[in-house]
Amino acid sequence: MTVKPKFYITTPIYYVNAAPHLGHSYTSVAVDAMARHKRLSGYDVFFLTGVDEHGQKVETAAQEAGETPQAYVDRISVPFREMTPALNLTNNDFIRTTEDRHQKTVQHLFNVLKEKGYIYKGSYEGWYCVPDETFFPETQLGEKHTCPQCGRPVQKMEEETYFFKLSEFGDWFLKYVEEHPNTFLPEPRKNEVVQFVNQGLKDLSITRTSIHWGIPVPEAPEHVFYVWFDALINYLSALDYGKDETLFNQWWQDPQTEVIHVVGKEIFRFHSIIWFAMLQAAGLRLPDRVVGHGWWTVEGKKMSKSVGNVVNPFEVSKQYGADAYRYFVLRELPFGTDGDYSEQALINRFDSDLANDLGNLLYRTLNMLEKYNAGVIPDKPKSGPELPLADIIEKTKISYNQLAFQQALINIWDPIKAANKYIDQSAPWTHFKEGNSQRVGEILYNVLETLRTVAVLLYPVMPSTAEKISYQLGIDDSITEKGYGSIQNWGLLPSGKPSRKGDPLFPRIQTKDDDPNGKKKK
Ligand SMILES: [Zn+2]
Repeated sequence: MTVKPKFYITTPIYYVNAAPHLGHSYTSVAVDAMARHKRLSGYDVFFLTGVDEHGQKVETAAQEAGETPQAYVDRISVPFREMTPALNLTNNDFIRTTEDRHQKTVQHLFNVLKEKGYIYKGSYEGWYCVPDETFFPETQLGEKHTCPQCGRPVQKMEEETYFFKLSEFGDWFLKYVEEHPNTFLPEPRKNEVVQFVNQGLKDLSITRTSIHWGIPVPEAPEHVFYVWFDALINYLSALDYGKDETLFNQWWQDPQTEVIHVVGKEIFRFHSIIWFAMLQAAGLRLPDRVVGHGWWTVEGKKMSKSVGNVVNPFEVSKQYGADAYRYFVLRELPFGTDGDYSEQALINRFDSDLANDLGNLLYRTLNMLEKYNAGVIPDKPKSGPELPLADIIEKTKISYNQLAFQQALINIWDPIKAANKYIDQSAPWTHFKEGNSQRVGEILYNVLETLRTVAVLLYPVMPSTAEKISYQLGIDDSITEKGYGSIQNWGLLPSGKPSRKGDPLFPRIQTKDDDPNGKKKK
């Protein structure tokens, strides 16, 4: 048996100071689509997600809730875990930074960095923003000493701290980026990081004595690790780094394994210079790609609790279906840029793309098959394909590999639209009336084979829909089992089998009477 290539993909660990919203679910859905795409491509995939449970903000939130920090994170991490069934995610593990396995790995990596001479003890004085848990240099502060990030007042603080010698990695990092132009994507994020490093790097304070809710430094337990140092290491602790290293060697150290982190743009800097320097200092392998995606606004406004426009992924996916939600967030904007969410936009996409184009194509074709051929899949036409597909398959795979989900979906909709047109133009009902059952069979087979191909290509983004289409076409094997191999050649749809027509997959939400610019009529 040949050994499958390996692919390790991660979401960031989500900070548990609020319930999961559109932003979290967006990252998770994108990573899941990529994981599924790689599995279909023949890879062994490890998909990691989880939660970040330490730091000042959690400590404060727990206090306000009248709970211990542990009780607080035990409770509030639950909905993050529930994203997996609600959004049909296929993560292989879910890590919490309060777990013992994570604590041990963080302490181990600290010891390794210390032994290699990249850690020293010093004292830190600076302007500190408590809500952001960040020190800022005087030059970055606003008038009246306010935080450059959130605008709240900062405090002067001094404390003993351990430093990581980040300043030694500036030149190395710039050279690395130059030699690996596709590691940090998209381009604007990379440029921001390069610009940041060009201004000169300071050593990074990695521990706090002013905070208690964190992982203690092994040799000085009055110190706890700075939440960012702690959080980044989750990617290694899920692989048992520092313990039994079987997983770690397979999924991280093996240069054949592709490693990719997907993150929001606000944490891109941590995942580039700081994370890469930590790994380089420890003598560990570096990730192949760090991809930063953009932010969502909601109906033109920043999503926030106070505005009351936070999009709840559980509610939306329950109402419209997980697949429709996944489709919308990946179709609506290019991955990497910012975009705007509105329920009306989702409904419009649902009705036009899913109901009118895809759902209708399947339903009308199986209807005709029932009428004209007793529901049985016709013989494969000797004349070959009349709808172009091979080109679309390759283009779509390339788009997925680049995490260009929007482009992948646009590609997939080309044959869907073409097949609807093809039916109208080739008018199988006329041939049926004329008694030309061979021509009817040829036309229907062409459309059915297009649907089969579309289902496989769509599977990374809309897994349940893809399996449903495949099932209705009379196919017994699941798409997961067969992978892209099943669409390598045209005409692999088995003839002579009964189809299994169901109800329309996506019944329209808006009727023709609805105002297309307004809400659905009640
Ligand atoms: Zn602040």
